[in-house]
Amino acid sequence: NSSSKKPPSPSPLRFSKFFQSNMRILVTGGAGFIGSHLVDKLMENEKNEVIVADNYFTGTKENLKKWIGHPRFELIRHDVTEPLLVEVDRIYHLACPASPIFYKYNPVKTIKTNVIGTLNMLGLAKRVGARILLTSTSEVYGDPLEHPQKESYWGNVNPIGVRSCYDEGKRVAETLMFDYHRQHGIEIRIARIFNTYGPRMNIDDGRVVSNFIAQALRNEPLTVQLPGTQTRSFCYVSDMVDGLIRLMEGENTGPINIGNPGEFTMIELAEAVKENPEVKISMVENTPDDPRQRKPDITKAKELLGWEPKVKLRDGLPLMEEDFRLRLGVPRS
Ligand code: NAD
Ligand code: UDP
Ligand code: UDP
Repeated sequence: NSSSKKPPSPSPLRFSKFFQSNMRILVTGGAGFIGSHLVDKLMENEKNEVIVADNYFTGTKENLKKWIGHPRFELIRHDVTEPLLVEVDRIYHLACPASPIFYKYNPVKTIKTNVIGTLNMLGLAKRVGARILLTSTSEVYGDPLEHPQKESYWGNVNPIGVRSCYDEGKRVAETLMFDYHRQHGIEIRIARIFNTYGPRMNIDDGRVVSNFIAQALRNEPLTVQLPGTQTRSFCYVSDMVDGLIRLMEGENTGPINIGNPGEFTMIELAEAVKENPEVKISMVENTPDDPRQRKPDITKAKELLGWEPKVKLRDGLPLMEEDFRLRLGVPRS
């Protein structure tokens, strides 16, 4: 009879949809440049709860000030080289200094952050069954002998150089991700991020776009490191965040290059930044192991994520300049 009938159980699909739409998301390094823009985007979805874990080495609470006190947001001062116990569905693992000046400042700490930090986040993902995305880097290709760089390229990296705490650190982090995936069935995503720029970069970050914009606003010479013909490809931060979220919610583990294939020499970049003809370009010494060229092949991102960058360098630079102008207190001329 009907009274002994069990109520219909929800289909697994409906159940998984329910959990997918109510998400608790950890962002390590969420007080940094890319992390804070990612948090802004994730917080736009009312179904998301966001937890940021950051030790404020290169990030600041200022970047997250609009969310502090919000009921769906939590900020934890935490160093990822220590174990972390939280219950989450997704982990965006960004924690790691990205500017060469900062990652070379304490190289042992940088490699610990990449290796022990990633191990801890994988242990966390394993315990709670979360999906984890690592923000790896184009630096895993080193000084590339293949151009543009495809994900299948294994790279040309100096294992004992001053950059290796970062590039070899990220390579081990990628290895750990795949070993946890194969050995423990963890759901992983790996993004290989190419040079990214935009508002909220540290003014004294030391990377090229922030240096040039700050120098131009201060009427100082733009310091182009020799030879000046080395190239990079610059992705605006909103495009980057869009790519990271698509990768996380898509079906592919990666690694997938996320970057803008528009390629510029550092002299061309300096020319694009300096509108004022009085601002000079000054050629200065370079640092060791500087990659001579870098440009992503984004065929995979286009095919697998339906993603490609929308913001051109010429449109993104003024947006960043406006933010720097406000923070440096330079009036519009
Ligand atoms: P960022 O320096 O602005 O942000 C990194 C954040 O991580 C900061 O808030 C910092 O305080 C935090 N952090 C550093 N070490 C930590 C630790 N041990 N524990 C907890 N928090 C720690 O850099 P970003 O440009 O926002 O880069 C974010 C991620 O993207 C990094 O993993 C970086 O390697 C990767 N990436 C960035 C670029 C780029 O061009 N910006 C390029 C390639 C890869
Ligand atoms: N870990 C963590 N949070 C958790 C679970 C694990 O930070 O919720 C850390 C843990 O301290 C360990 C690392 O993740 O150092 C790897 O964990 P795993 O369980 O894979 O390895 P084990 O603890 O067996 O070495
Ligand atoms: N660079 C420069 N002037 C600066 C800072 C950097 O010409 O003030 C050059 C540097 O030599 C490198 C490129 O800009 O070729 C990108 O350097 P950045 O530190 O921004 O990032 P990287 O891609 O090396 O991680």
